[in-house]
Amino acid sequence: MDPERIDLHTHSHHSDGLLSPVELVALAAQRSLSLLALTDHDTTAGCAAAAAACAAHGIRFVPGVELTCQWRGREIHVVGLAVDAQEPGLVARLADLARRRQQRLAAIGERLTRAGLDGAGIAASVGAAKPVPTRTDVARELVRRAHAEDLASAFERWLAQGRPGYAPADWPELDDTVRGITAAGGHAVLAHPHHYRFSNGALRELGAAFAAAGGAGVEISLAGMGPNDASRAAALARRCGLAGSVGSDFHEPGLPWRPLGRFAKLPDGIVPLSDRLGPLAP
Ligand code: AMP
Ligand code: MN
Ligand code: MN
Ligand code: MN
Repeated sequence: MDPERIDLHTHSHHSDGLLSPVELVALAAQRSLSLLALTDHDTTAGCAAAAAACAAHGIRFVPGVELTCQWRGREIHVVGLAVDAQEPGLVARLADLARRRQQRLAAIGERLTRAGLDGAGIAASVGAAKPVPTRTDVARELVRRAHAEDLASAFERWLAQGRPGYAPADWPELDDTVRGITAAGGHAVLAHPHHYRFSNGALRELGAAFAAAGGAGVEISLAGMGPNDASRAAALARRCGLAGSVGSDFHEPGLPWRPLGRFAKLPDGIVPLSDRLGPLAP
């Protein structure tokens, strides 16, 4: 299948994307995508609506999720593809992650209050709109209240690690997260390995731990990934026996560096993870 018409990493407004699942699928149809996964942070709430919209447009839909976890104390994202969103273990895992995110939102609010902002009001607005709140939602609220000019400066000034509104969260461990995805019938994919800024040695150890836990793939062709990052990811895939996944990490139409469904082909010799997804609706 033509990798340019596949996108296996996208967000809707159920996490920190701006579009509804129906609007996301309409954009995917406009871009002639044939295979689309919705992978919101720690929630599958948009999957049913996205599946119905994909069926109407003749796009194969993959129910997915991007789970937040930790390895050696560092935050790692694992995409689960073709998960059964009804599987009780996954349902319980997502409920637990929603609780952790709500607790962290309250802690962010307290920190913003100590920094002189209306932290309780900010946390209340975000919490009312988002059952599974992300820092991006807080960043948008900070922009709306004119505490920052745009998303990037809201992170830089308030929400990035070490800034006044940063609150740590105690995320689940990587191996447990990978096993949870597999138990829900899904394929676990190590998301955006270039984001973690690991040394080659640490990245290899992460890849080995991920594969040992049952991880199936790694993102190799991602919008915004340079050729060096992609060849490092491809080397990791070969070394650890992982398939390669493609996606945009699309959040909103206004970010041209993360366009839905447009990225490079997988390098030769890499098994496309999409080949393992099997026959899907419609
Ligand atoms: P969270 O998982 O709630 O900590 O939020 C992480 C999300 O924030 C990521 O998925 C990105 O979409 C977004 N993000 C993280 N850092 C930045 C940044 N510096 N600028 C803009 N968005 C960011
Ligand atoms: Mn995000
Ligand atoms: Mn991510
Ligand atoms: Mn993402």
